[in-house]
Amino acid sequence: MEKYRVLLYYKYVDIEDPEIFAKEHLAFCKDAGLKGRILVAKEGINGTVSGTVEATTKYMEMMHNDPRFADLVFKVDESDGHAFKKMHVRPRKELVTLRLDEEENVDPKELTGEFLSPKEWYEAMQRDDVVIFDTRNDYEYELGHFRGALNPDIDNFRDLPEWVQKNKHLIEGKKILMYCTGGIRCEKFTGWMIKQGFEDVAQLHGGIVTYGKDPEVQGELWDGQCYVFDERISVPINRKEHVVVGKDFFDGKPCERYVNCANPECNRQILCSEENEHKYMRGCSHECRVHPRNLYIKEHNLSQEEIQHRLDVIAKENQVAQEA
Ligand SMILES: [Zn+2]
Repeated sequence: MEKYRVLLYYKYVDIEDPEIFAKEHLAFCKDAGLKGRILVAKEGINGTVSGTVEATTKYMEMMHNDPRFADLVFKVDESDGHAFKKMHVRPRKELVTLRLDEEENVDPKELTGEFLSPKEWYEAMQRDDVVIFDTRNDYEYELGHFRGALNPDIDNFRDLPEWVQKNKHLIEGKKILMYCTGGIRCEKFTGWMIKQGFEDVAQLHGGIVTYGKDPEVQGELWDGQCYVFDERISVPINRKEHVVVGKDFFDGKPCERYVNCANPECNRQILCSEENEHKYMRGCSHECRVHPRNLYIKEHNLSQEEIQHRLDVIAKENQVAQEA
């Protein structure tokens, strides 16, 4: 079987014309047989691509030959196949969507928090004058996070500034340790934090993914899995022990299996066992279960009777739970 790899990378660097860059970049990637998702902005590049060892090597060489990306760090994972269905290169206004106005915006090339290596991070996490702060979204946190990390419980990265302003009391006066998947969100957000007046702000260099690959720390003190934005959905991080922190949406039992709600208009990501997927027809609510476009019902060709039977089982259980 041919070996594949998944590359994860980003860099804040000036790209003069993102539109033209994206067009040329897409042509190269398609020609090399890569699949993935790359964002290009005036402030830099952020990508995940998958391909054969040959294709990914060719891509890394091409990038490293460009003076702008000569020092670009690729996080490389082995894979059984592609992690994407298509190849997209999209010009964007921002690499990570914060939508800060001009006054508030930060250039990570000029202002960013202290970088901690995995080893330094591991040691810093265990100090008692620190606060560990997850900058990712709620569904990412729910599947896995650093032990003891604060969860801002946000749906979108752009909601994080507001959370910080409302929760200053939780983080003020402490050494702030921030982390995200690959480092791109923190590289910008630690700069924003400093601009807001927080003095001691540090970030995990290379993010969670790099931390999991580090031969010394081996992902220690990470619980659960790391959510990734490709078809793999999650990757393991802690190579010393595996603590499951994810909880089944329906019964709260330990679970690390993500599915999308079968109502295409909802599409919410929920952790859910195979058993509960069938039981609840992959619907996150009654409305989603009975939605006329419910994909689960289509996939399994359920009859009206069968649907009603499952709804009755759920209703009966809810009734018992309420009486208890
Ligand atoms: Zn739903």
